Amino acid sequence: MTRIDELQKKYPNIPTEVIIKWEVVASGVAYSPELDEVSEWTRMPTYQSYDFDVTLKQLEHTRGRRSHGGKLLRPGNFYMKNGMGAVMRMASNSPYQIKDSGGRLALFEGEERIDEDLYFAWPKPREGKEPVTSKGTPIDNLINTPRQCFFVMPVRHCEYFATREQCKFCNLNATQEDAGSVGLSRPVTINLEEVLEAYKIRSQEIRILEGRLEMGGFMSAENESRIYFDFVGKIANAASYKPNFTIHTESMGRKDMQRLKDAGLECITIQLEVWDPDLFNQVCPGKAKHAPHEKWLEACTDAVDVFGVGNVGGKIIAGLTLIPENGHRTWQEALDCHIEGNRWMIRNGVFPITSNLRLPPGSVYGEDPSNRAKLPPTEYYLEMAQAHHNDMNEFGLYDNLNKFLYCALCCVPAIYCGELGMLERAGDIGSWMSDVVPSEANWMAHLTESLKSPAGGTAGQKFYVI
Ligand code: SF4
Repeated sequence: MTRIDELQKKYPNIPTEVIIKWEVVASGVAYSPELDEVSEWTRMPTYQSYDFDVTLKQLEHTRGRRSHGGKLLRPGNFYMKNGMGAVMRMASNSPYQIKDSGGRLALFEGEERIDEDLYFAWPKPREGKEPVTSKGTPIDNLINTPRQCFFVMPVRHCEYFATREQCKFCNLNATQEDAGSVGLSRPVTINLEEVLEAYKIRSQEIRILEGRLEMGGFMSAENESRIYFDFVGKIANAASYKPNFTIHTESMGRKDMQRLKDAGLECITIQLEVWDPDLFNQVCPGKAKHAPHEKWLEACTDAVDVFGVGNVGGKIIAGLTLIPENGHRTWQEALDCHIEGNRWMIRNGVFPITSNLRLPPGSVYGEDPSNRAKLPPTEYYLEMAQAHHNDMNEFGLYDNLNKFLYCALCCVPAIYCGELGMLERAGDIGSWMSDVVPSEANWMAHLTESLKSPAGGTAGQKFYVI
């Protein structure tokens, strides 16, 4: 019996696709030559904070050149029939691999093939070369727009590392050296004018529906909000139309939030990471210095006052409290604390999102290999998702949710953003987004639709959708 079968038996009400997603997201995939077939040369991100225990240096050393011309060969996502997908992050000891099975690529657990069709869908490649700014910078070096959304990181640097007060799970700064070691220059901004130029070009090429901005940590909330204010305000007025904007931020004062809203911001996510106040201080000392835990909660409720119910997100990382020495002793204890945090958020109109813990090299916790044994099992994610779903229904938050706060078109494969509700209410991911995304831009709906026709995408092969 595979691990997926075992989990399905334990959680019969959770769709198989959700179980597969979380098993793969929580365990990663080990390298196989076939993985390269479903990888893509991408400019972003030029850092490895998303993988488990693999550095770019090791990748290049052991598997030939994976970085070239400022781009990096990275595994993408796979999707299943209802649009549920999983990001494939590399972990050297994962039991999962993508392998050939009778001419098709499939997911294997060891030697056992997982009995579910996988689809490797990609945006259609552009015709012609990537446009450049007046300084000659390719625009995808400044603004990441894989589809109808964009992502900008105005400052790719976190102030907390200088005093060793960084969050202990994070390797944001360390990955700069790693990227440099294989010749990738990180597209460091604060380069507002050039980002604006890139945005203007892109927004004429495609209809951008939503965009998000994120930065490393700042000791000063004023500095952080000032940078966001400049970016949001300028980008909001750069094109003839304006997409939905979200920022991912530290704790922030109500006045700054109001200024950002007036400048054109619709959504905000507070990156709390840890619900328990004592463990928050220990795991995220820089964040705790930026503002005490209670101020982060105040920022969540202030944000709901300013931006409205359903426009505010709150992030907690699953299982993080299992790592400190005096942290939670069992995953159930950690989960109870996580669920309590999520419930508080939902009750207050904040949409909780969850990402998984990876303990990458260059992070404090990643330096101790014995910490890997403490990573939470997939049961943690599935039980968290069930409780989240029940609370979302109880407090009616699905009905008030801005679907662009975590746009299901691109966010779903990597984080928990309410997928049980999406599938229960809409049947598939494309249909969930269909009331807010015009049909010609809803690539997820095109994907799920095309899989129903014989001419559509083929399981186990790479193909393109709009
Ligand atoms: S604030 Fe924490 S999670 Fe964010 S970049 Fe800094 S150390 Fe990493």
